[in-house]
Amino acid sequence: MIERVRHDGVLVVGGGLAGLSAALPCAPRPTLVLSAEPLGGGASSAWAQGGIAAAVGAEDSPALHARDTVAAGAGLIDADRALALTELGPGVVERLSALGVRFDRDETRYHLSLEAAHSRPRVVRVGGDGAGCAILAAVGAAALAAPHIQVRTGFHARALLQDAAGRVRGILADQAGRPVEITASATILATGGLGGLYAVTTNPRALRGDGLAMAALAGAAVLDPEFVQFHPTAIDLGLDPAPLATEALRGEGAVLIDGAGRPIMPGVHPDGDLAPRDVVARALHGAVADGRGAFLDARRAIGSRFPAAYPAVFAACMSAGLDPRAEPIPVAPAAHFHMGGIEIDADGRTSLAGLFAAGECAAAGVHGANRLASNSLLEAAGFGAATGQAAATEADPGASALPLSSSPELPEADVQRLRAAMTRHAGVVRDAPGLRRLLTAIDELDARHPDALPLVAARMIAESALAREESRGAHHRLDFPARAEPAQHSRLFLPYRAAIAA
Ligand SMILES: Cc1cc2nc3c(=O)[nH]c(=O)nc-3n(C[C@H](O)[C@H](O)[C@H](O)COP(=O)(O)OP(=O)(O)OC[C@H]3O[C@@H](n4cnc5c(N)ncnc54)[C@H](O)[C@@H]3O)c2cc1C
Repeated sequence: MIERVRHDGVLVVGGGLAGLSAALPCAPRPTLVLSAEPLGGGASSAWAQGGIAAAVGAEDSPALHARDTVAAGAGLIDADRALALTELGPGVVERLSALGVRFDRDETRYHLSLEAAHSRPRVVRVGGDGAGCAILAAVGAAALAAPHIQVRTGFHARALLQDAAGRVRGILADQAGRPVEITASATILATGGLGGLYAVTTNPRALRGDGLAMAALAGAAVLDPEFVQFHPTAIDLGLDPAPLATEALRGEGAVLIDGAGRPIMPGVHPDGDLAPRDVVARALHGAVADGRGAFLDARRAIGSRFPAAYPAVFAACMSAGLDPRAEPIPVAPAAHFHMGGIEIDADGRTSLAGLFAAGECAAAGVHGANRLASNSLLEAAGFGAATGQAAATEADPGASALPLSSSPELPEADVQRLRAAMTRHAGVVRDAPGLRRLLTAIDELDARHPDALPLVAARMIAESALAREESRGAHHRLDFPARAEPAQHSRLFLPYRAAIAA
């Protein structure tokens, strides 16, 4: 028996930073936040280590921050949107401070980290490497205390509901095995990224692009799904997901070396260890693939300060039996962030009436082919709030018949098959034969589990990666190593065949 819930207000799917930031400004509209897991769990937001990029330093400005963002994006960033994002930075830090986030600072200034491809130290942090956890805790507490917000966990969204005109009217969810249909005036997808589609990832494993796939199946435009950022320095000690060794370590002088102790980055890029993420990821991928091995040596740069300065990284290493004060940390690239996503405008509106998207599942035009480090918490908090404000203005379109169809669950063994194939063929380096093999594997799985959400998301990545016959940012084709000009976006609509559009 299906349970039906009619919610006259905004429905937010996802309890990470984007979802909660969207929910807060919806007042006085009643706002229902659904999350698959308890708040703070299963969300990348809680795991963010580096911090939030914001031009709050004396030598910095939103214009400089936007310039770095555009440069990192490899020709595919909307410069106006990038500036709109970076102008939000100082205000977002102030707003989060007002909610109780204790950023690292003294009386006069913030302690700022330098991360790759930033021309200034610009990353505002909390307790060294605990920014995400502290920020999500503060925003979560504010949401739980807000009278207009109701948070319900244990709801797994399976499909979007649409009326006969195609307007999105809510979702079909699964609660402890029972189907629940929830209709609302506006629906915001804030389901995060898709690192869980890969065998080696820094993301919570359950993040497999559900929101992206649901939106695509409903006919929403999807932008640049092939651009997946691989973090170069996931800690390679056999854990799934792989813990991260934040880039701030390299900002403080930690060095990438091979197994023989030779530095890896000199001669690869003028910025050395702080070269853009895609460059470092490829260098480390090569070092691992050809047997040299890749390690992050923080012994001299951090040394005995490790436990106090980077408690999360220190704890992750120690729990796997490695003391980073005494030994270099083995590292490998891991799927980390999805630059592509559900295409949105400045208000977070998708191409479908009634449907909004925020955070990592959305593509707002600010990450291009390569995200600038620590811009995503800013996007989730800043653009997320703007999306909530816009969604709160949507009127309830009234009752109408809503045909239901839901995607099947992908069994765990098949999830693992998919993850292995994605890491192998749609990873740091790609080529046509590998991507075709990946598509064959997806076809075989799809024949048994038609349109299972992880398969829909994976297929969009694979097809767009195959269609993009160039190397740009995080997308590196061994068979097309050069950039093709002019830079073009991939814009997909069902049946998700890659259509290159300007
Ligand atoms: C280890 C790590 C370190 C990072 N460090 C930084 C950093 O220092 N700075 C920075 O800017 N960015 C960092 N990032 C990236 C950043 O954390 C994310 O991009 C950002 O937090 C995404 O926020 P979000 O709200 O969109 O998604 P998330 O925080 O991932 O939240 C997604 C939510 O959606 C829910 N959900 C998913 N699918 C469903 C479904 N089907 N039904 C119901 N609910 C669902 C999840 O349960 C969760 O509540 C890091 C990421 C990782 C993994």
